[in-house]
Amino acid sequence: MSGDGLPPLREIIARHNLMAKKALGQNFLLDLNLTGRIARAAGPLEGYTVYEVGPGPGGLTRALLAAGAHGVVAVETDPRCLDALAEIAAANPGRLIVHKGDALAMDERTLFANERVKVVANLPYNIGTALLVKWLTAEPWPAWFSSLTLMFQKEVGERIVAKPRSKDYGRLSVLAQYRTTPKILFEVSPKAFVPPPKVTSCVVQLLSREDVPAAPRIATLERVTAAAFGQRRKMLRASLKSLIPDPLPLLAAAGIAETARAEELSVADFARLARLIEEMKR
Ligand code: SAM
Repeated sequence: MSGDGLPPLREIIARHNLMAKKALGQNFLLDLNLTGRIARAAGPLEGYTVYEVGPGPGGLTRALLAAGAHGVVAVETDPRCLDALAEIAAANPGRLIVHKGDALAMDERTLFANERVKVVANLPYNIGTALLVKWLTAEPWPAWFSSLTLMFQKEVGERIVAKPRSKDYGRLSVLAQYRTTPKILFEVSPKAFVPPPKVTSCVVQLLSREDVPAAPRIATLERVTAAAFGQRRKMLRASLKSLIPDPLPLLAAAGIAETARAEELSVADFARLARLIEEMKR
């Protein structure tokens, strides 16, 4: 038995035949110190519903429940995990709801209509960035979550927190830093997972910003960063041509040098450009 009265994870994995499937991005966390550390990092959880994507055999789920989450709502695509998760639900009456499905297709705003939500997940790496972009582009904003505490490949974590004039700075950095305050909390060695992935991971926390103005719309900001970083070696006077025929008046109005390149602009510069484009098109 573990501290929560449930059998050890290795026993659960063996009993339910949960051999990890690479195609589902399955790298399980069996180290209770680490799952506890992630749950504490997301805290305080009292009064919050935790949304967990991909609970798998339920190691992190158990840590979240033990850390005092009001409840955990989880979505898992692999039907083999459902019986194991049902055991955890039975040991925690009314505190764990598991949906069988694809996290990319979930309508979270409807799911969490009147709840305070924190997202905590050891994400499947194959859909991690797509899920993050889905959550960061939620409309309206503030979104349905107050924070995201997520395991990513270290390289993705570095892109999320990257500052201008660095090689990792790009569309994901601007989007994440426009709507949240992101921070890498700690690195996680491949050895912490079963089976171990090829790369080092990290836990990133993104605190939702409440003060994001209504303009520009997030779709416009995304179009500007796509154009600018799509040709990141070009000067903006050239790269923004994919967006508007003559970028020079736009750059002048924004107070940005026409010879600047995407990686030199701050998040505020991108927001100003996007807002001006919306005003010009009105
Ligand atoms: N949370 C568990 C842990 O930490 O040991 C498992 C994490 S494992 C990296 C990712 C989990 O996400 C797997 O259980 C996998 O089946 C699940 N998964 C993969 N694609 C998914 C999707 N589209 N929607 C929901 N869950 C998914």
